[in-house]
Amino acid sequence: RPPAVVLARVTPLGPHHVLLLLEDRTESRRVEAVRRDFVANVSHELKTPVGALSLLSEAVEDAADDPDAVRHFAGRMRRESTRLATLVKEIIDLSRLQAAETVFRPETLEVDQVVAEAVDRVSTVAQQRGSEVVVTGQRGLHVQGDKELLVTALRNLVHNALAYSPERSRVVVEVRRGVGRVIGTPAGQQVPTIDLAVSDRGVGISQADLNRIFERFYRVDPARSRSTGGTGLGLSIVKHIAGNHGGDVKVWSAEGEGSTFTLRLPDPDAGPAERPTARTPG
Ligand code: ADP
Repeated sequence: RPPAVVLARVTPLGPHHVLLLLEDRTESRRVEAVRRDFVANVSHELKTPVGALSLLSEAVEDAADDPDAVRHFAGRMRRESTRLATLVKEIIDLSRLQAAETVFRPETLEVDQVVAEAVDRVSTVAQQRGSEVVVTGQRGLHVQGDKELLVTALRNLVHNALAYSPERSRVVVEVRRGVGRVIGTPAGQQVPTIDLAVSDRGVGISQADLNRIFERFYRVDPARSRSTGGTGLGLSIVKHIAGNHGGDVKVWSAEGEGSTFTLRLPDPDAGPAERPTARTPG
């Protein structure tokens, strides 16, 4: 979009001078356009399961004399209402995350517990797909944050790793200390981090799509996403949770080879000498 500069005020300052006040509205217009797109997408996404539920309820009525057909349509209705519930929950989660600038209830958390809970939440999906989730790396590390949010973020990454890999595959969650850039890291510097890397050997993501997967409702393959109960909001939620914790999420991927998504959080145990603010220049 071109810059939107408007003439906000003209004030005469005497016979030969006027004061022109120009205002740059580029950012506020961009924010407004993003909001409009989001509302349009939400309406579209909600219409799909609502429409399906309406058609399925008609089908149940028409099939009243055929118990097998009724069971079949009732099953589909249950799946559509689960989808609708997930969608509504994620839309609300995302709006809350966008409104909040900091973490809601930060506390010192054991990384092992966060990982265990996230893995536990995908155990049913893993089992259904005959896949396994393996946890490796360092134990006994800590992060500072909101447990429910961090579990949600990691759960989303592990769920995707399972969903976008063939059945009977292995997903690895590796916990390690790292160095890198998180929010607020001055240019050219790196800080100690706690990295939670989720790797799969699934379908992978092309370079062109990599730039877009964190956008709300963006899916590389909408049919595949839908068949695994995806809403297209999962990664957007992960990105916001990472940001609210002063962290970030990095991705490496190659089409046909697999992907690694790394949730990178600031290391609260790093000594003050390791923090960028405590460094002496040079
Ligand atoms: P969805 O609910 O569709 O999974 P996400 O926001 O979690 O939405 O992810 C957006 C898109 O990114 C997915 O639809 C999928 O195309 C792609 N994607 C996410 N994780 C992976 C992965 N581990 N491997 C391959 N593609 C992925």
